[in-house]
Amino acid sequence: MKDFIENCTEMTSKKIKIGIMGGTFDPIHYGHLVAAEAARVKFDLKDVIFVPSGNPPHKKGQKVLDKTHRYLMTLLATATNPYFQVSRNEVDREGYTYTIDTIRDFDIEYNGTAEFYFITGADALSEVLTWKNIEKLFEMCQFVAATRPGYKYEELFKEIEYLTVNYNGRIHFVEVPSLAISSTDIRERVRMDLPIKYLLSEAVENYIYKNNLYK
Ligand code: NAP
Repeated sequence: MKDFIENCTEMTSKKIKIGIMGGTFDPIHYGHLVAAEAARVKFDLKDVIFVPSGNPPHKKGQKVLDKTHRYLMTLLATATNPYFQVSRNEVDREGYTYTIDTIRDFDIEYNGTAEFYFITGADALSEVLTWKNIEKLFEMCQFVAATRPGYKYEELFKEIEYLTVNYNGRIHFVEVPSLAISSTDIRERVRMDLPIKYLLSEAVENYIYKNNLYK
């Protein structure tokens, strides 16, 4: 009987698992899409919501493409995957956009019924201790660090251990070979009139040329 009651409690309190894919996506490429799909499968996520960053605090003074273009390219790239959605949450927010505010908004939207996995690049996560309200963020979501080929795993493992022991961080990683593709490299290639075919979706490629981006 005790087991039965415990099982019922577990069943009713079980939260749905949602991936939140955070990034600048300047532009979004196949590495990002493969990373999101790998995380979805590995952690059995119901959906992955892509959240193009709005006005990220760590990019002060850096040239980042207009957020509407980045949002539209993310929509185009994800359109054919039924598990992928795109949110305007950060694009529509005024001022600097912090991940803690994004996760709080999703928590309200899902009425506390979802467990969140914040997926992003391992390099971005190495700066995580500088993020706003990081302790609360570790409480509210798990992290998935997507690594590029050649990533120095020793450093990542040390970092994960440190954040787990000192901040109760719940951090996982996924290896993504196609993250050999990088947004910086794509922008550079467009600037130099080099082909970008097969690095990103055709729809995004056409969007870049049509709008004369990265020139
Ligand atoms: P970034 O510093 O531009 O990127 C760092 C590295 O991670 C780059 O090599 C980048 O490759 C890769 N990367 C970024 N997003 C990725 C993703 N979703 N999947 C796989 N690789 C990814 O980082 P960012 O894109 O601006 O920020 C990442 C996320 O962290 C965003 O959601 C941002 O809002 C959040 N963040 C929050 C705070 C805060 O709350 N205070 C501070 C910093 C970042 P590509 O260039 O090829 O994408």
